[in-house]
Amino acid sequence: MSTIFLCAISNIKSGACEQDCAFCAQSISHGATIDRYSKKPIETIIYEAKRAKERHATGFCLVSSGKSLTPKTLALVSDAAKAITDLDLGLKLIACNGVAEAEDLHTLKAAGVRAYNHNLEASEAFYPTLCSTHTWQERYRTCKHVGEVGLDLVCGGIFGVGESEQDRVSLLLSIASLNPTNVPLNFFHPNPALPISHPTLSQEEALEIIALARTLIPHAQKIMLAGGRERVFGKGNYTFFSHGANAMVIGDYLTTQGEDATRELEALRALGFGIAGACKEA
Ligand code: SF4
Repeated sequence: MSTIFLCAISNIKSGACEQDCAFCAQSISHGATIDRYSKKPIETIIYEAKRAKERHATGFCLVSSGKSLTPKTLALVSDAAKAITDLDLGLKLIACNGVAEAEDLHTLKAAGVRAYNHNLEASEAFYPTLCSTHTWQERYRTCKHVGEVGLDLVCGGIFGVGESEQDRVSLLLSIASLNPTNVPLNFFHPNPALPISHPTLSQEEALEIIALARTLIPHAQKIMLAGGRERVFGKGNYTFFSHGANAMVIGDYLTTQGEDATRELEALRALGFGIAGACKEA
């Protein structure tokens, strides 16, 4: 059996986003019922980082809502990153804070952040049907900045939002052109408040997307299952690891609950999977 990578996320600033991304419960446009807060206390973030380490995560991602990396968010992420780095937990720190300029990415790097997550989300042609408040091209530009400042790029997308097969191929080819180290694949989690009402993807379709990602982005260190995994595959089903994926998010997501992490670890070990101890393990 293969070795897989686990990653945990912390939503450090939740909701009240003025953008109108149709798939996102954090947009103020949709009025979804979620937790909203402007700044998670550093102590809580540190607690979550330690818990991620206990759960054998090799990566820990500091995520904030909003279109871009504002000075306030930059300060929060930098403070959190420095505090976690000082603990020397051996976690790779990832930040995910929207559109960002190179200068701000340098600041994050100096604070201990090693990778930046910015998803293209959808194909260039389809993106305008999902979001009218910012452009796909802005997203692509930020992804270019990430490589330029020497941070690893984490870049993926969301599926099951009405896109065509052609859109999927186009999105994955665009992601490949950015040379990411990690490609998170999210599957749409329906919410009655959101304007998208597509049925959940079938497992077969999701497996095809994973295999396509592995084929079209062969140099990515990780193809990672992220939001919507449990909804598509159900509990205790890890068949995606034999279709090209080698990483997954463990614990809760941004606005939805994940599976019980302890149970997942037990299930993975019982199936014979090795759990990577560091991000660079091959
Ligand atoms: S995906 Fe990001 S930018 Fe879009 S609504 Fe959600 S938090 Fe805002």
